Amino acid sequence: RGKKAFIAGVADDNGYGWAIAKSLAAAGAEILVGTWVPALNIFETSLRRGKFDESRVLPDGSLMEITKVYPLDAVYDTPEDVPEDVKTNKRYAGSSKWTVKEVAESVKEDFGSIDILVHSLANGPEVSKPLLETSRYGYLAAISASSYSYVSLLQHFAPIMNPGGATISLTYIASERIIPGYGGGMSSAKAALESDTQVLAFEAGRKHGIRVNTISAGPLRSRAAKAIGFIDMMIDYSSENAPLQKELSAEEVGNAAAFLASPLASAITGTVLYVDNGLNAMGVGV
Ligand code: NAD
Repeated sequence: RGKKAFIAGVADDNGYGWAIAKSLAAAGAEILVGTWVPALNIFETSLRRGKFDESRVLPDGSLMEITKVYPLDAVYDTPEDVPEDVKTNKRYAGSSKWTVKEVAESVKEDFGSIDILVHSLANGPEVSKPLLETSRYGYLAAISASSYSYVSLLQHFAPIMNPGGATISLTYIASERIIPGYGGGMSSAKAALESDTQVLAFEAGRKHGIRVNTISAGPLRSRAAKAIGFIDMMIDYSSENAPLQKELSAEEVGNAAAFLASPLASAITGTVLYVDNGLNAMGVGV
């Protein structure tokens, strides 16, 4: 039986979510994605018009198929949580059933169960502000979109995951080392995500027999990273200082995710796996 994967946080072909989808598809998984509601229209249109066809090519020459794209906004758990201005916003009004609980229900209705859950999303409205200047609103919004969103996804999807299943999120070393510029509470959000990976590994392991891991990825020129504003500098810093002096490709993170999701990793849970050309191991720059 082929495995089914739900990947939350795919809205173009540049980010880690897309690369993870491709690696999982290459390994034979059926791909479902969750796309942020405001980005849904352009993503689906681009997909339909063939704009991503070149990046859909898998190692065997076939094209990755996305079985279904679900609208998702991971900062809302149930319809009751959605404020009136969002509900009536024209970018949201055209879609329905996009809160976490409703998406899990739709996936259950459509496919019964899944095997792999990937959280590849983050948002911090004040990311370009130093933590010292971050507002309470900005900090809590970063935690809500980037950390609690994972708790919520697991809460709602774990019951429809087959035993032996795996879940993976994406984190960044700014959680444990000082990375000036990664502000707005995003460093705090990643610290929460990593700590939660351990607690959720225990709870979901005991209750559902599934594994929970996170990948601490090196810098990639994704849409989200470009919005932070220092991505080129981080990529240069890595190629100057990391043990492996090459640019990190999204595919390398995708492949590590496919490993973590596979039976090859059946005893690995609660871990942070660094996929960063080894940069995390350096104590000083060279
Ligand atoms: P990306 O832009 O491809 O992915 C982020 C996605 O999050 C986007 O598709 C966006 O639409 C979605 N999103 C934002 N708010 C959402 C919400 N409320 N509900 C649903 N979706 C929402 O960028 P990326 O860099 O590939 O990010 C994926 C993950 O990788 C993030 O967790 C990020 O922190 C992590 N990461 C990125 C880097 C990097 O250098 N790019 C490094 C380490 C970790």
